[in-house]
Amino acid sequence: MKTQVAIIGAGPSGLLLNRYLAKHGIESIVIEDRSREYVEARIRAGLLETQSVKLMEELGVADRLYKEGMEHKGIYLQVPGERHHIDFEELIGHTVWVYGQTEIQKDLDAACDKAGQEIHYEVTEVALHDIDSDHPSVTFVDKDGNSQKIECAVIAGCDGFWGPSRKAIPDVEVGSFERVYPYSWLGILANVAPSTDELIYAWHPDGFAMHSMRSDKVRRLYIQVDPNDDIANWSDDRIWEALAKRMELTGWELKTGEITEKNILAMRSFVSGKLSHGRLFLVGDAGHTVPPTGAKGLNSAANDVRFLGEGLVDFFNKKDASLLNRYSERAKETIWRVTHFSWWMTTMLHTSGNEFDNQLQLSQLKHLFKNKALQTNLAENYVGIR
Ligand SMILES: Cc1cc2nc3c(=O)[nH]c(=O)nc-3n(C[C@H](O)[C@H](O)[C@H](O)COP(=O)(O)OP(=O)(O)OC[C@H]3O[C@@H](n4cnc5c(N)ncnc54)[C@H](O)[C@@H]3O)c2cc1C
Repeated sequence: MKTQVAIIGAGPSGLLLNRYLAKHGIESIVIEDRSREYVEARIRAGLLETQSVKLMEELGVADRLYKEGMEHKGIYLQVPGERHHIDFEELIGHTVWVYGQTEIQKDLDAACDKAGQEIHYEVTEVALHDIDSDHPSVTFVDKDGNSQKIECAVIAGCDGFWGPSRKAIPDVEVGSFERVYPYSWLGILANVAPSTDELIYAWHPDGFAMHSMRSDKVRRLYIQVDPNDDIANWSDDRIWEALAKRMELTGWELKTGEITEKNILAMRSFVSGKLSHGRLFLVGDAGHTVPPTGAKGLNSAANDVRFLGEGLVDFFNKKDASLLNRYSERAKETIWRVTHFSWWMTTMLHTSGNEFDNQLQLSQLKHLFKNKALQTNLAENYVGIR
């Protein structure tokens, strides 16, 4: 196979990039090691910042988002006995949208189908070759067991944190940074209408709790747990009790319902030392990850897509490599801002079991409730105005 850009991974990064390139007349081939059904059903992100919504609109995949998504004007922050609304719209005139990654994935797949863009699912043995040269290639075995080779000018590594692209960069660990947090999130999906109009982030001495949603019928809730905890220790009743206790507020009730999914996820921040090498470029989780507290993972993947897309459009359509050569530098500026914001939200809201730390966190949150400058800073970072 021959193409201009070989894209490894059909998650949000891979398919957004495919649609961005197609819009500008640039050909790409996408390969993915999972099935389409699996990728479409994977429960992950659910909150889109202004820039991500704009990108989806530009790519013609925002119709259902505008019809079925929920526009949120702010978030609630809570300490025991006090819930405070941070009003993004009033503070900075921007909003965010609640719309599940599963739905984004379906919309991107449908757009690819409509455009006749083939995606090679269930591939194995993916390997990158000659990334230092002008003619790199990707080899893989297709789902029928045939060996395949894609010859291309550029490889986009959109294959997530565990994929092969980052590992293909020599000495990539030099200058890479990682922080693994001493807490995890137990996340549930529940078939019950939200008990709140906007997301609640609650600090509690027992640990952080969060109420988010995917639609007006489906809720996504999280509680902080120990990283060594086992999901088997958490019956549905115990989860609902912990959520109700940590988010308790006079006059407010957390309605319960059927839990359809529950799992524990580790929390880490990671930034790769290099986001590009020769003709290979890392996009999204392949190059960096954040804990989900600030809802930034998918949004920073969308930022990368725009930066790389702009570079590739100049490279292929104007024969100008200058923007492409600056991809890593441009993307990293945003990545570090996002990494700091996610770290700040995470460390402000998760308890460590130390009473001194608790008092510092409470002081910081109560100061935030009163201080418009701090709220504006939170709002700008949350909606992604940089
Ligand atoms: C449980 C959870 C909750 C999250 N919540 C949020 C949130 O609330 N807000 C937010 O913004 N972000 C959230 N995130 C992060 C967000 O989901 C990711 O940042 C986003 O999916 C990144 O997109 P991506 O395409 O870069 O990577 P991925 O979605 O990981 O996609 C990479 C793709 O590459 C494929 N792949 C891997 N290896 C290979 C290979 N060898 N060959 C071919 N394909 C391969 C994978 O199967 C996958 O489809 C969450 C993540 C998790 C895990």
